[in-house]
Amino acid sequence: MKENNNNLAIIDFIKAIYNKKKFVALHEPRFLGNEKKYLSECIDSTFVSSAGKFVDEFEEKISKYTGAKYAVATVNGTCALHISLILAEVDKDSEVITQPLTFVATCNAISYCNAKPIFIDVDRDTMSLSPSALKSFLEKNTIIKNKKCINKKTKKIIKACIPTHSYGHPCRIDEIKKILKKYYIFLIEDAAESLGSLYKNKHTGTFGELGVISFNGNKIITSGGGGCIVTNNKLLAKKAKHLTTTAKVNHKWDFNHNMVGYNYRMPNLNAALLVAQLEKLDDFIASKRNLANIYETFFKDTDYNFFKEPKNSRSNYWLNSIILKDKTQRDKFLDETNSNGVMTRPTWILMNKLPMFKNAQCVYLINSNWLAERVVNIPSSVKL
Ligand SMILES: *Cc1c(COP(=O)(O)O)cnc(C)c1O
Repeated sequence: MKENNNNLAIIDFIKAIYNKKKFVALHEPRFLGNEKKYLSECIDSTFVSSAGKFVDEFEEKISKYTGAKYAVATVNGTCALHISLILAEVDKDSEVITQPLTFVATCNAISYCNAKPIFIDVDRDTMSLSPSALKSFLEKNTIIKNKKCINKKTKKIIKACIPTHSYGHPCRIDEIKKILKKYYIFLIEDAAESLGSLYKNKHTGTFGELGVISFNGNKIITSGGGGCIVTNNKLLAKKAKHLTTTAKVNHKWDFNHNMVGYNYRMPNLNAALLVAQLEKLDDFIASKRNLANIYETFFKDTDYNFFKEPKNSRSNYWLNSIILKDKTQRDKFLDETNSNGVMTRPTWILMNKLPMFKNAQCVYLINSNWLAERVVNIPSSVKL
């Protein structure tokens, strides 16, 4: 296919996939099951807020689904990250390693703890944190004292690391985990986008001490807004629950709180929607993997590369990506698709380029810079 015709052919193809003539969105939620039933049950019960059976039911079901022993539902993924960092004892004297290619929420949560991010490069085949870059950074730039990893440059303690499973594709989480363990660094997985994605047959988010999932409106399933923390650690789960529910001490009537807590609990109304969505998750994943297959075949005959799930993994293909030749070609593609009714988006602007994080320590971001100029997300809603 000649490059001139490329974009128009792609626009037609995507419109045909979704059977739309005018506009195809990047990612829309689908409500095809018991959503209305459970929502009206929830309203009829009057338990629409911070107590009710749907929250408990959701927590049980998501822990079964992911294989994590415990799950704590929250109002969104960002606050789940915030609580996770508090549980890792991240404070103003700490630093947190993450990748520059992620959604801003990852870094905002680090800032809520008054800590500083350190940006380490990603691998091109996962778009997520590179274990070899991580290892080489830690070897050269840190020393270990009293089981704490000290950054030689800043003298601060590197307390935690948050790799993101970008666009649902699992990163090399087992290697990352192994490296972090050696350096006494707490692993929090940003699995906000990767519900249903497996690495070596184990659910993403369950490798780290804590994993965070989001149920925002654009994610694979949604509660309107919502998130959760998954963990195998009973004590951390208990603390997470306590902190997200105003640190209230259980009692028949006393309003007794033993520390500064947060009002981060998912309302029952959102959980009702989510329980219905969860029933459809396996169908959604099957549909998305089928769509990815269709895209993969189609893009073989174009100038663009379709991004395939990394080795050893089963991706939920939350958002499909293509990789263009360079920034010029990417900008032309974004312009032509968006002005012709097919919504596409570039990947995130790297976090180290944002004003709030521009002074953060960065380590050779070669792949991140390369991907930032070339990756475009294409429509990925579940097909009807
Ligand atoms: C969506 C998302 C979050 C935040 O989740 P919210 O529920 O929107 O607060 C965090 N990290 C990544 C990578 C995300 O995509």
